Amino acid sequence: MTAPFQPYSMHVGVQEARDMLATLLPAPGAETIPLAAARGRMLAADLQARVSHPSATESALDGVAAREVDTVNASATSPVRLRVVGESRAGVPFSGAVGPGECVRIYTGAPLPAGVDAICPVEQLTDEGPDHVLLARPASPADVRHEGGDFRAGETILTAGTLLTPPRVALAAALGHAEVPVRRRLRVALLSTGDEVIEPGHPLGPGQVYDSNRYGLQAMLEECGCDVLALGHAPDSPEALQEAIAQAGGADVLLTSGGVSMGRYDFMRDLLIERGRVAFWKVRMRPGGPALLGGWQGLPVFGLPGNPVSSLVVFHVIVRPVLTGQPVGTLRLRAGTPFRGLPDKTAFWRGVLRGGEVWDYGKQGSGVLRSLSEANALVVVPEGGAVQVGEDVEVILL
Ligand code: AMP
Ligand code: MG
Repeated sequence: MTAPFQPYSMHVGVQEARDMLATLLPAPGAETIPLAAARGRMLAADLQARVSHPSATESALDGVAAREVDTVNASATSPVRLRVVGESRAGVPFSGAVGPGECVRIYTGAPLPAGVDAICPVEQLTDEGPDHVLLARPASPADVRHEGGDFRAGETILTAGTLLTPPRVALAAALGHAEVPVRRRLRVALLSTGDEVIEPGHPLGPGQVYDSNRYGLQAMLEECGCDVLALGHAPDSPEALQEAIAQAGGADVLLTSGGVSMGRYDFMRDLLIERGRVAFWKVRMRPGGPALLGGWQGLPVFGLPGNPVSSLVVFHVIVRPVLTGQPVGTLRLRAGTPFRGLPDKTAFWRGVLRGGEVWDYGKQGSGVLRSLSEANALVVVPEGGAVQVGEDVEVILL
């Protein structure tokens, strides 16, 4: 196949690759779903508090509610004696007022009656008959939770674009929302390519390899909250690829693995040039250099390299942040080993966390599959840089 000339970008930077992919993806639509189904979804609109929390000024402890001024001299050797005039339970407040020298028994989350401003915990109390208690410590205003101290009705607490992690799902419930507006899931078609690639569960012939990318990428897409349209596998021929790509209709983006390199049987790029379009080929990174971005009749196509390590790293560094709208999280750690740099590529070396430092995993070849499980970090060495032992280095946790 000889491809017609078509201009496209070559050797783009990592951020440029993300930006180009982002511009090809459709704008995310929105839908409203029950909160119980919202974990892992992205908010499509701000969420306001419908109530204040706490909804009333309340006790943080079990004990008695009293006036702080009445109790400041209380100690174990000289306890203060107060008259108990009632009780305030969570859900059943004390309706009267509390005067000087008086208190009410109170429990965690119960509203504070009028007239008191402090709590003495139950561990510091001794009953003296049915109507009196002795306080071995002053009642403390620090154990009062004030109405709206956490959030106030009307306040915007979660903003559009926020990922709904389990704590945020709980927070949305506390704000009073039974349903939440979220971004529609992206529908991602997934295709493995390669004559040698076969399904696990079948005997492996000479030169064959099990399709690990299909499983790894599907799992990562699901983790990103995408709907996966599994297209399975296509052999290395332009016709077979074309037929497989035609099955991706209705998807928001097609993700392929394999067939984007320089080999004689790598057809993806020429096929896109001939029948679709290419936006970029090759990213200045290692592993993962040969990644390809293009389009096929309005469908964005992202071609990941076939090497499982490369496809994982490109997915993690370029595809995932675009699909989720969440930047790649990095932290800085001390290098326990040196990390070399590359003159014209950002290096993402597999690393292992050890005693607060990050160490070189060792075998950095893209074919070392066990590193996908044994390494737990990617060490980012910028183009032209290098890292010595003891220096701080940027790390992506896997
Ligand atoms: P390619 O990018 O097609 O040149 O493939 C590069 C290397 O990755 C070759 O060793 C392939 O056998 C291997 N490979 C390609 N696709 C897969 C896959 N889906 N699962 C596992 N290994 C693969
Ligand atoms: Mg191949």
